[in-house]
Amino acid sequence: MIRKFLIFLSIVVFFTFSSSLIFGEGENVLVLDAGHGGSDTGIVKNNFVEKNIDLRIVKIIGKKLKDKVKVVYTRTGDVDVSLENRVITANNSMGNLFISIHCGAYLSAENFGLIYILNGNDIQNTSYGLLEQKIGDKTVKFFPFNIAGYYFLPKSREFGTSLLKSLNNFYGKNFLENPIQLKLRILENIAMPGIVIEVGNLNSKNFSDTDDWYNTISSIICDKIIEFFNISDKNNE
Ligand SMILES: [Zn+2]
Repeated sequence: MIRKFLIFLSIVVFFTFSSSLIFGEGENVLVLDAGHGGSDTGIVKNNFVEKNIDLRIVKIIGKKLKDKVKVVYTRTGDVDVSLENRVITANNSMGNLFISIHCGAYLSAENFGLIYILNGNDIQNTSYGLLEQKIGDKTVKFFPFNIAGYYFLPKSREFGTSLLKSLNNFYGKNFLENPIQLKLRILENIAMPGIVIEVGNLNSKNFSDTDDWYNTISSIICDKIIEFFNISDKNNE
């Protein structure tokens, strides 16, 4: 209950003091979310197990950036982590950017390097009346969690579009210029800009299980993360 109250407070602080608190003083906090884990393998295809690939990329990104930003992981081992716990880790860390790493397995070899963000229109279909909760002998009204992500959608879109461009360049394709807009629960609940990215298609030749591939993909994502934090800092000066 207290944890919920703290998250509630953090969201109120975000909404009240606008971006100066989000990107202002203090360190930048990057939340890295490796998809799946433990009993949830994600996609298994051609001897590849998605949960392992997701974690490997997350660890490379974290290692590359650990001296530049504070890195928070939703999992660092092969363990089950609920969606709720991923959200709580992200929001309790007061993150400034959330990146969830996944892989796809599409029949069409063209489908890879996809990025997902929320669809702003979905907020119309989301219930967001104030929630009430008893804390001690008091009833406190809560801002619900399931809309926080919409507040940060413009920044999520900006980051997602820019990263997609880099991925398209790397893969030498251009079939999608914008992130796919989808009502994803994890993105709705995080109180920071965030994206879900499918770094490769396990069903396609564009995925190669080599150190080179992992390093290149991770570097592309790292460059955009650094750019995102630098631009945000500048906008705040
Ligand atoms: Zn996945």
